[in-house]
Amino acid sequence: MLRKAPVVALVAGLTVIASLAVPAHAGQTTFTPGAAGLGDPYFPLAGNGGYDVGHYDLKLRFDPAGHRLTARTTITATATQNLSHFDLDFSGPAISRVEVNGARAGYRREGQELVVTPARGLPAGSRFTVAVSYAGRPKAVKDDVGHQGWIDTRDGAFVASQPDGARSWFPANDSPADKATFSIQVTAPDDLAVLANGERAADGVTAPGDGYATTRWEMTHPMAPYLAMVAIGRFTVSEGTVAGMPNITAFDPSLAGKAKDLHDMTAKAVQWEAGLFGPYPFSSTGGIADGYGNETALETQGRPVYSGGPTDDLEIVHELAHQWFGDSVGVRNWRDIWLNEGFATYAEWLYQEQHGGPSARQIFDRYSARSGGFWKLRTGDPGRRGMFDENAVYVRGAMTLHALREKVGDPVFFRLIRTWTQEHRYGLVTTADFVGLAERLSGRDLGAFFDAWLYRTGKPQA
Ligand SMILES: [Zn+2]
Repeated sequence: MLRKAPVVALVAGLTVIASLAVPAHAGQTTFTPGAAGLGDPYFPLAGNGGYDVGHYDLKLRFDPAGHRLTARTTITATATQNLSHFDLDFSGPAISRVEVNGARAGYRREGQELVVTPARGLPAGSRFTVAVSYAGRPKAVKDDVGHQGWIDTRDGAFVASQPDGARSWFPANDSPADKATFSIQVTAPDDLAVLANGERAADGVTAPGDGYATTRWEMTHPMAPYLAMVAIGRFTVSEGTVAGMPNITAFDPSLAGKAKDLHDMTAKAVQWEAGLFGPYPFSSTGGIADGYGNETALETQGRPVYSGGPTDDLEIVHELAHQWFGDSVGVRNWRDIWLNEGFATYAEWLYQEQHGGPSARQIFDRYSARSGGFWKLRTGDPGRRGMFDENAVYVRGAMTLHALREKVGDPVFFRLIRTWTQEHRYGLVTTADFVGLAERLSGRDLGAFFDAWLYRTGKPQA
């Protein structure tokens, strides 16, 4: 049998454990602290216990002088236990004020945790707001997995927060397991463009004539905090439509050479992927090429960011495939990141197969011949430092899917993909969910197959 993720049960149990730890007194309600983390095996402090976020309202003012942000983030959440105090994840600039339900609240910062103590306890099931005001120059989170979050550019900034950089620019329940809707409003000099996730609100741009303009973007589908994004700077913006929805792309003019096809390629990739994976999950698409130097890309929801510009068409195919795999169907724990990267990489193989390139089988065979370190980490549990390992997570994730395709046959495999994106649309998944669906649709016991591909080192023999 495939190993099941024990941490999921632990997460579900946290609330129970916390409330059992304190004796209840007859006739009086007991309030206890929310947990400082959600139990992610790789990022134990990511996310927080005791509440569930419904909506983030971000209001930012960006001043290019000193790259300074003046911000107020208001979170609407529901308490899932009687809360005496609770944490947010926040590593951003200095805080001037925290309010809960409109009243001043106590707070203290402990590492990446912002501990908020409301004037009165928050009863389980109640909706509350917490508003945090802060100002200063945000800094990217730099740790053993990379450089994430708010990234300064020459003329502004952009954001790429995977896995836990959201806390660099707004207080968050920074776990992939707590999705919420977002409003992102940015006031910036009116000669700069501002882009973010989703669509510009109908009254989204106002310019009072002081040299600044305010732009508001709305992401109306659930989004994990690490997928939230803004891009501020001088951009060449293209607006069109694909599949009946807006396609909004932008590139820094200095990246014109690499980004001139971004708009058309985005439309082409989205259309091709919708034919294969099922309906596109969000109400607009696009892409942003910004930054310079370090080349990377992130599947920020509805509008991926290509730092340094897209390297090629396949990178655009990859980031847009994540809109289905990773953004809409999201992982509950980072350990299962192969579900995101394996699918996005396999999308590149399928794209080549259907566009005059090598077949997926040929690409699979090429990697199959690899030896040694290629097979060193476990695809389904690569470790925190291995979570972005190209070989273990991306390529062997795609190989797992290709091996599955050959095992169950094309009709079942492609039905599996569409059923997966449909049944878990906007939801959270684990590897066990995928194995379960593959077994249900194929009518076969695939435990040994997935165990060999995901949880063992070395080349699978079967
Ligand atoms: Zn990816």
